[in-house]
Amino acid sequence: MPLAPDSPLCKPAAGDMKDSQLQQFPHRRFNPLSREWVLVSPHRTQRPWLGKTDKNAPANSVEYDPTCYLCPGNERAGGVRNPPYTSTFSFDNDYPALLRDSPRFAVNDADLFVAESEVGICRVACFSPRHDLTIPIMSHHAVREVVDAWSEEYRELETIPWIRHIQIFENRGALMGASNPHPHGQIWATASLPTIVVKELSSFEEYRNKKQSCLLCDYLRLELARGERLVCQNDGFVVVVPYWALWPFETLLLSRRHVGALREFSLEERDLLADILRQTTIRYDNLFETPFPYSMGFHQAPLNGPAHTECHFHGHYYPPLLRSAAIRKFMVGYELLGTPQRDITPESAAERLASLSGIHYSCRDTSSP
Ligand SMILES: [Zn+2]
Ligand SMILES: [Zn+2]
Ligand SMILES: [Zn+2]
Repeated sequence: MPLAPDSPLCKPAAGDMKDSQLQQFPHRRFNPLSREWVLVSPHRTQRPWLGKTDKNAPANSVEYDPTCYLCPGNERAGGVRNPPYTSTFSFDNDYPALLRDSPRFAVNDADLFVAESEVGICRVACFSPRHDLTIPIMSHHAVREVVDAWSEEYRELETIPWIRHIQIFENRGALMGASNPHPHGQIWATASLPTIVVKELSSFEEYRNKKQSCLLCDYLRLELARGERLVCQNDGFVVVVPYWALWPFETLLLSRRHVGALREFSLEERDLLADILRQTTIRYDNLFETPFPYSMGFHQAPLNGPAHTECHFHGHYYPPLLRSAAIRKFMVGYELLGTPQRDITPESAAERLASLSGIHYSCRDTSSP
């Protein structure tokens, strides 16, 4: 396991020199959560931005779509009809990736053919009855209702003794494989811990054992002091382009308070979470003046087992767009076989996102020239 801080190359260098080298020359950055590296090649993008945005009109323009299986009152697969819901609405996925009561089994043949059963619950959470809305164009009140719905789903699922982990996430946009433009997310509750969560847990634990503090509390404190990767913040949350960001405009959402899960937030913090979700996604949409595709989700402490007080609640946004609504980043070639790579530095991505308006482009006065 590579541990960056112990590398012989980690000699202290004069701050300015070090920073300017990072903006000019190829280097690798270490992700202390995943303990993987990302290759940064800033010399490939030293030309200035040309401002090309390839503006796209929002994909959905109707408030209600009679053919949408998520709209209120419509029929879903198998003949189930949605209630005429007026705020949020959650239900068991009609085509779940995991089943609640499939048989338990394990296979191990020579340590080479290894498998085990997995059980889980897959929920769908509609954010709004309106087919044409998304988080960045929903009202603060409506997004707060989404946060409340997630919290409620979490509270109910965590009472099921075999559930060890709850993954709340959203795939936005056809580019991310979202099958329906109706604003919705998913909640997968599983009996085992997901791969990435296991990696992060051991990073949190190892960091705490070594430094007697929290990896993300320490990281947040340094990011706030340095200021060069901050995108937006409020009294409860901070969003940065992480130092080790892999996707061009990847961001990391951090709670200011060291809490492990949604249930620990006060009502005021739920309000602040709704606010930061809007602030972040409005900037994303404003970047190329297009509904910005992404996968996002929260990482929280595991459940129904040993307490994991080392965990720090956070969210990841992974958007694929690179230079315009039409140009996306692909993970191919060297990235699939070796190490992921990016061109624009996390610092310049953060600077661009932070400089954007907190008002959604579709709400701006378009009558002036
Ligand atoms: Zn719909
Ligand atoms: Zn912490
Ligand atoms: Zn994480």
